[in-house]
Order: sequence, then structure tokens, then C-alpha cells
Amino acid sequence: MTFRGEQIYWMDTAGGVPPGADTLPATIDVAIVGAGYTGLTAALHLARAGRSVAVFDAKVPGFGASTRNGGMVGPGLHKLGITGLTRTYGEDRAIAILGEGLKALSHLEAFVADEGIDCDLQMTGRFRGARTAAQYEASGRECDWLQAKIGLPSHHVSRADQRSEIGSDFYRGGVVYARDGGVNPRKLLLGIAARAVEAGVQIFAPCAVMGLRRDGAGCTVQTARGTVKAREVVLATNGYSDRRSAALNRRVVPLETGACAVGPLSPELMAELTPKGRMHGEAARVFMWYRPTPDGRSFIFGGRFGAGGMGVEARAKAFRKAFCRVFPQLEAAPISHTWSGQIAYTTDHSPHLGHYDGVWMAGGYCGSGVTRSIYFATKLARRMLGQPGSETAFDDLPFKPVPFRHFAPFGASILMRKYQMQDDRELRMRE
Ligand SMILES: Cc1cc2nc3c(=O)[nH]c(=O)nc-3n(C[C@H](O)[C@H](O)[C@H](O)COP(=O)(O)OP(=O)(O)OC[C@H]3O[C@@H](n4cnc5c(N)ncnc54)[C@H](O)[C@@H]3O)c2cc1C
Repeated sequence: MTFRGEQIYWMDTAGGVPPGADTLPATIDVAIVGAGYTGLTAALHLARAGRSVAVFDAKVPGFGASTRNGGMVGPGLHKLGITGLTRTYGEDRAIAILGEGLKALSHLEAFVADEGIDCDLQMTGRFRGARTAAQYEASGRECDWLQAKIGLPSHHVSRADQRSEIGSDFYRGGVVYARDGGVNPRKLLLGIAARAVEAGVQIFAPCAVMGLRRDGAGCTVQTARGTVKAREVVLATNGYSDRRSAALNRRVVPLETGACAVGPLSPELMAELTPKGRMHGEAARVFMWYRPTPDGRSFIFGGRFGAGGMGVEARAKAFRKAFCRVFPQLEAAPISHTWSGQIAYTTDHSPHLGHYDGVWMAGGYCGSGVTRSIYFATKLARRMLGQPGSETAFDDLPFKPVPFRHFAPFGASILMRKYQMQDDRELRMRE
């Protein structure tokens, strides 16, 4: 995890976090560790149901991935893809899991509207470019399947028509997923935090949770400001989990991912690069995602390029190489911000929620957590409250500890390098 000189684009676009609470209560119904989307959304629902709730963040609310992400929202399909999901779980289950992504997206849209959160939600659709002809064929088949089985509106774009979607000849055509869009992630976080505080949630930050001890029916929560007795505890630390949130930490692999903002760019160049102002992605093992900023003046690029923990300049260089491959027009464009953050992967590539090792948790969104975290946190709160509507298609997938967890980030980076080499070889061999 590196913070050397990094600057997050979204920090310049929205105000500060609401003032934190001062006095630690002696007892509380629910203590939540982590003030990102998961922790704050769960807190909001629990407080509205009459629970006393304290949320603790080691830094500031939104310090983690929730204000570092690309703000791209959508059904978040599944990392295994249709073939992998069907092979692993059978077609009915694959349909249920992929359909759950659409439910999560509808939930996010309704949540933002109902709560009146001004977060620049723009449902622009997403163009996913194919790097090879074989990928174009495969993503075309996938798009037909999704349309037929879960009603996901999408359409193919041939290489000949590609310029209507993107100012680039790099891809061999692609697919438009009509139900994707973008938000300003920081505005979203601040909106949820404001609603949570209005509902009576106390946010303590900076206030790290140092340890948890089972204590009769409840739990003693040791924080940097003293101890609190909580009836229940929620771990919402996702990619920022560590020994202090051990029950979640042993189940996820935190991975660093980077981003940069390029701009400001002229309106003419923006219109050339993204004629429809869509979100963008690519079909590759190690892929780049990119999007215009909500004000349409800059582009944000993200992905897992270069080594973990790299400095700002090395990150900017790695990104420039990656985005110039798609957009040579940006060779001399200014990179205004570069930053990184932690995402949480799981061994089955699925997000999870539930009660494990005596605590509640939701996480492991595998890099697609804007839509999922808000949906999963709501489901988690309902489950804790014994309310209906808490079930998800992921419920009976076991959330198992990661084997050799300590070495898993290292193993993942070796795997990434191998995938990168495979991607590069495919590019070299394409006609
Ligand atoms: C660069 C980047 C780009 C991304 N882009 C996208 C995207 O475009 N679309 C998408 O869907 N997803 C994206 N994601 C993923 C998404 O941002 C996350 O899945 C989501 O924000 C997770 O939210 P969360 O609340 O679960 O965790 P986080 O927001 O990471 O919050 C965890 C919090 O826990 C706190 N914490 C940790 N330990 C303790 C402790 N002991 N005591 C107290 N507090 C503690 C941390 O300080 C942190 O604030 C991206 C992630 C990154 C890093």
C-alpha cells in the first residue's frame, strides 16, 4: 500500500467528511469496523431500525477504496465469466448469480434516488473492447447469453463501427453493456455518511479498532480511544483488513490497484475519445478500465499495472504506456493525479456476507464493490435485524479462509505477471 505523494482525483471534487463523534459510549448495540460504503450503509439501516451504532475508522471515513475507486457501477457480472460459472455451479445457479448483479444495480439506483444523494450518477452504458478477434467472438456470444437469460441489454459493435464508441483503433470490436454507468465515488461516500449521521450513527475517526474479545453474549471492542462493549460486531474492512480484523482478513486477499486522472482535455478531444461519454473496459486477463470524469473534462484510467507499492512517478509511467496503446492522442496529455487503493479478492471470486468466527461481515467484492457493497451491506443489516429480503444468490457458497493466506498476495502478483505475459503474447500474435 503506497501513499507517497499520491493525489486522489475525487478529493478535489467534493467537500470534507462530517465531523466525527467525540465521546466513546460504554455500550452499544452494534460496533462496525470500517467507514467505507459497507460499514456506513449497514450502519444507516441498523440505526433506522432503532439500533445504537458506532462506526470506527482507523483513518477518516472513506479512507479506503470507497473514495479511491473509479466510480463505475453496473451489474458487476462475475470474474469467472459465464463459462466458468456454468461449469462450476450449473446454468441455473449461474443465472441466479448473474441476475443478482442486476438486482444490486437496481438497488443502488433506488438507494441513491430515495436518499437524495447527489453523486453524479450517470447511466451512460459501458463499451468493453475486445483485443483480439477471438475475444470479440467470445464476448459476442456472452452478450447474447446475458440478453437471453437475464435480460441484460447489450449489443455488439464491430471493428468497422467501433469509432462510434471510442476514438481508438486498438480493439477488434466490442460489446456495449447498456446498464452500466458511473458515479463520483467520494460524493457517494459523503452522502451515505451524512444520512448515517442523521439517523443517529456515531462515527469515530480516526479511531482504529485494535482488537476484539468475545465477552459473554457480546464483544469487547478495543479501540485507540478506549473500550466499548458491543452486542454485535460487523467487520467492514474489505481490502484494508489486517490482523485487527482477522476473521475477514483470513478470508480475503488484499490486492493493490492503481488509477490516474488525465486532463483537463479539450471538449473536442473528449468527444473524439468517447463520443457517447460511456464507461470503458477491455476483455483481457489484466485489463484497463477507464471513464470520463462526471464533468467530462478528464479521463480516469485504472488497473493493476506495475509492481505493488510502486511510487507515483513509476505508476504514472506504467499508466501512460497502457493508455497510449489505446489512445495515442494522449501521448503528451498531463497526468493530474495518480493514486492506488486496496481491493479484496476471494478464492471463489464471489462476494460474501454472513456471520463467521463470532462476527458479521460483508466483503470480498473482487474489485467490483461500488454497487455490490451497498447492496450487500443492506442485505447484511436485514439479516442482523431478522428482516425479510436478506437472501442473495451467494448465500450457500462457503466463505472459506484462504489457504496459505500470508503468501497469497505474493502468489497473486506472480499470477498477474503470468496473465500479463499471456495478454501481451495474444496482442503480438493478433493480425
Ligand atoms: C483504485 C480502485 C478502483 C476501483 N474501481 C472500482 C469501480 O470503478 N467500480 C467498482 O464497483 N469498484 C471499484 N473498486 C472497488 C470498490 O471501491 C470497493 O470494493 C469498495 O469501495 C469497498 O468498500 P468497503 O466499504 O467494503 O471497503 P473500504 O472502502 O476499503 O473501507 C474499509 C475501511 O476500513 C478501515 N479499517 C481497516 N482496518 C481498520 C481497523 N482496524 N479499525 C478501524 N478501521 C479500519 C479503513 O481505513 C477503510 O476506510 C475500486 C477499488 C480501487 C482501490
